[in-house]
Amino acid sequence: MRDEVERKLNIKAVDIYGLSEVMGPGVAMQCLETDCGMHIFEDHFLPEIIDPDTGEVLPPGEQGELVITTLTKEAYPVIRYRTRGLTRLLPEPCPCGRTFTRMHRIFGRTDDILIIKGVNVFPTQIESVLFDIDGTAPHYRIVVECENHQDKATVMVEVKESYFFDEMKKQGVLIDTIKSRLASELGISVAVKLVEEKTLERFEGKGQRVIDKRKI
Ligand SMILES: [Zn+2]
Repeated sequence: MRDEVERKLNIKAVDIYGLSEVMGPGVAMQCLETDCGMHIFEDHFLPEIIDPDTGEVLPPGEQGELVITTLTKEAYPVIRYRTRGLTRLLPEPCPCGRTFTRMHRIFGRTDDILIIKGVNVFPTQIESVLFDIDGTAPHYRIVVECENHQDKATVMVEVKESYFFDEMKKQGVLIDTIKSRLASELGISVAVKLVEEKTLERFEGKGQRVIDKRKI
């Protein structure tokens, strides 16, 4: 999508990070010169990375949950606010010359972690595999169930309409490709089901991708 936006508008698109509880977009921004993470505006925000399970502050460079303290915000300041975003700080100097620390693009959310067959799975991992495979639309759903005391995960993927007009063989090849790519990315095997375009429910903003039927 980013490539398409850049090409069609003839602009350079950059990542801007923010969250509405803090100020909205503008907490951190990617360098225009280099693609090496986002500088956090440390004159306004104090970032920390913590272990989401213990709350312990992690050393620079380690991956964990981003915690933000606002330094200049009035009326609605936040102190050590847990963003639920998983990232790491990039403490090395940036080639652009700015000295504000940088953060990596968000890897996932702490409340998004799915434990399937004892393995940690992030919906973003599934997303990155699907974005890479031609023919799959960027909409999917993960359904996790318990069957005979075993976790069973099914990834439902929207595919372009043409896949449903063509012979079954083409669908089978696509399912196998998605399955093997997901298995190598996630470390567990999951079932894959193709569905027609625009049949999965759409969400405003942050989508609800996971249906976990194991919880009662
Ligand atoms: Zn920079």
